[in-house]
Amino acid sequence: MKCMKCGKEAFKSTTTEAIELGFGVLVIRNIPCYKCVECDEIFYTGDVAQKIEEITERVKQFIQEVTVVDFEKAA
Ligand SMILES: [Zn+2]
Repeated sequence: MKCMKCGKEAFKSTTTEAIELGFGVLVIRNIPCYKCVECDEIFYTGDVAQKIEEITERVKQFIQEVTVVDFEKAA
């Protein structure tokens, strides 16, 4: 996998993302991603990006001020 920003090698990693929903914040932990060795850019495969959207849609219905989910368990 190559970095979309600088073209250097990117390696498999996991990350935590905080998504601002206006009325609350959703924190997703353990998201599988690729991270660039050069510029630290993080990107997701299409599958993962889609699952993040699905999780966000689902969580929106019962979100509190701050909701933390684990990607592996929520996916
Ligand atoms: Zn890069």
